[in-house]
Amino acid sequence: DVTDGPLGLADLPLRPELRGVEPYGAPQLDVPVLLNVNENPVPPSAAVAREMGEAVAAAARGLNRYPDREFLDLRADLADFLALESGVRLPPEQVWAANGSNEVMLQVLQAFGGHGRTAVSFAPTYSMYPEYARDTGTRWVTGRREDDFTVDPSAAAALVEAEQPSVVLLASPNNPTGTALPAAVVEAVLAVAPGVVVVDEAYAEFRRAGVPSALELLADHPRLAVSRTMSKAFSLAGARVGYLASSPAVVDALRVVRLPYHLSAVTQAVARVALRHSAELLRGVADLRAERDDLVAWLRDLGLEVADSDANFVLFGRLADRHAAWQGLLDRGVLIRETGPDGWLRVSVGTPEETARFRGALADVLAGPA
Ligand code: PMP
Repeated sequence: DVTDGPLGLADLPLRPELRGVEPYGAPQLDVPVLLNVNENPVPPSAAVAREMGEAVAAAARGLNRYPDREFLDLRADLADFLALESGVRLPPEQVWAANGSNEVMLQVLQAFGGHGRTAVSFAPTYSMYPEYARDTGTRWVTGRREDDFTVDPSAAAALVEAEQPSVVLLASPNNPTGTALPAAVVEAVLAVAPGVVVVDEAYAEFRRAGVPSALELLADHPRLAVSRTMSKAFSLAGARVGYLASSPAVVDALRVVRLPYHLSAVTQAVARVALRHSAELLRGVADLRAERDDLVAWLRDLGLEVADSDANFVLFGRLADRHAAWQGLLDRGVLIRETGPDGWLRVSVGTPEETARFRGALADVLAGPA
């Protein structure tokens, strides 16, 4: 209204559940050591980056046209990668992709959630899940994880039986705790779930030896969907590529709700180059896993409580004043994440140099004022 000054949010017919809500996201600060959003600290190599540039240039010559809407070449490459990484071989029709696994999982809620329906997860867990539910009008219900952040299979099954959710979201390894779920938990949920069960394996490539992937359960469970991402293991967070493996029926449902041409030709080209180099990228993941295990051991030696981690980050506590510790680290040039239960902080595994800076800064902070 011209006379009342600039239009504010309050003047708009914002949905009531969005009133007063801040956009989700960690602070993006200009700090020397960034260990706050579980990125891969190692960028694509110069050779891979050059190849990506060439692939983008080739794609650019065709940008007057819409991209390949079904992107079956990319889906075939992703299927090849899953076979290499986990030994589970799927046809391209059982693989789907979108702009980050956040978009993939939002599509799952768009297809299977909605008014009058329920989605279930187990807290503490990834903070975007309730946003997918909110944005699709889906009722959101969480069970509790145990004190060690594991999920009790019978308690989980009981909650799913009671709530009859059309979607269950199980993060494994979980964010922010790093906890992977044994197959028994996923199977207990699948046995009683009336709808789709998503196992979010954004960090799966970082799991310790012997920890299974839910991909192994796909053959027997057509309502299981395993979500993955190129943001972490592939050092490709900036490209926004997430994907999902499930039955052809579940993929068909996602094809109904996706926007046409949602995955740009540039994105498809860049992702396919990265996938050509997956063996090299997985060698980098092995280094990060070793670095993670050293970091867990070091934090425990300090007398801290540390959650077992199958991811590229570590949750540690308990700090009497976690905000003061977080701020102390930031003052020393190290940005980590103030998330998880009170008293705990989460740090991503960086390069050896970055992790060394984190260790020095934390030792300093815990020593207190001189
Ligand atoms: N799932 C989990 C558990 C995550 O931690 C993240 C990223 N922080 C995502 C999904 C989404 O990642 P992306 O959209 O980059 O694939």
